[in-house]
Amino acid sequence: MTQSGTECDVCGAKSQLFLCRNHIDELAELFTGLPRFMAFLQDAVLGRTRMGGPQRRHRGDEQPMRYNPKASTLYVDARNTLTTWLRHVVEQHGIDTPALATISDVCDWLRRHVAAIAADEAAGECFTEIADLAERIERAINRPEAMRFLGPCITNPVPDAVLLERRKADDRETRCNRALTAKRAAKEVTCSQCHATRSVDVVIEALLDESGHMLLTVRELVDYVLPQLEEPVPAKTLERWIRNGDVPVRGHDARGVIMVQLSDVRDMRATRPRHAKAGVR
Ligand SMILES: [Zn+2]
Ligand SMILES: [Zn+2]
Repeated sequence: MTQSGTECDVCGAKSQLFLCRNHIDELAELFTGLPRFMAFLQDAVLGRTRMGGPQRRHRGDEQPMRYNPKASTLYVDARNTLTTWLRHVVEQHGIDTPALATISDVCDWLRRHVAAIAADEAAGECFTEIADLAERIERAINRPEAMRFLGPCITNPVPDAVLLERRKADDRETRCNRALTAKRAAKEVTCSQCHATRSVDVVIEALLDESGHMLLTVRELVDYVLPQLEEPVPAKTLERWIRNGDVPVRGHDARGVIMVQLSDVRDMRATRPRHAKAGVR
């Protein structure tokens, strides 16, 4: 097997190995940064945040622990990718399998063996996979902090051009309904379809008015609706409120799961002293 690649697999620059000097350094940097990313990701799996962004915290509030299956899958994927490359390097270069306790140790070992990776025919593939992995993790740990989904756009009627398109498709809906997302700190949001700009508070209030009487399951409330309102309630707490009759059961979904009304949950939450808004008794 020849080790005399004449160009870098990633950028095509002249190189004795399958990776040029720059890409060897970049790969080493990726391995250096990954343990920190993996720690953030592990927190995301359990719904904890280390980011310390502008997310509001209520003093004395229980930390909501929401299992995040997407982060969990990505974490397992990442661990598999890293250990697979470790095994590959060990096998290709006849190195004894090292005893490594943590994923951080695995990353560190790979970083110390970037030269061996660069001499391997699969170097380009390794670089691409690791860079892609780092990017996916970065996206996964940033997105929930950076952006939040507000709900469907409330503009009604939507501009004529859109109405016309819809009529062709036999769709009589007049409301815009384009999904609105905004940065957590944003005060305003602009719709990508009707281009209306509104205050985030106005949009949330309007959507709440609509959904206050909507029936929702505990999971929908705990995982999605309440965090979106920045009024988190732990599942155990909400289940207790329902058990005690503080939040009445108003129906069941098709699978027989209990459904309650958002406005009841918000009313109950507001009666807890630590959640009462200043000046509101
Ligand atoms: Zn290169
Ligand atoms: Zn719109």
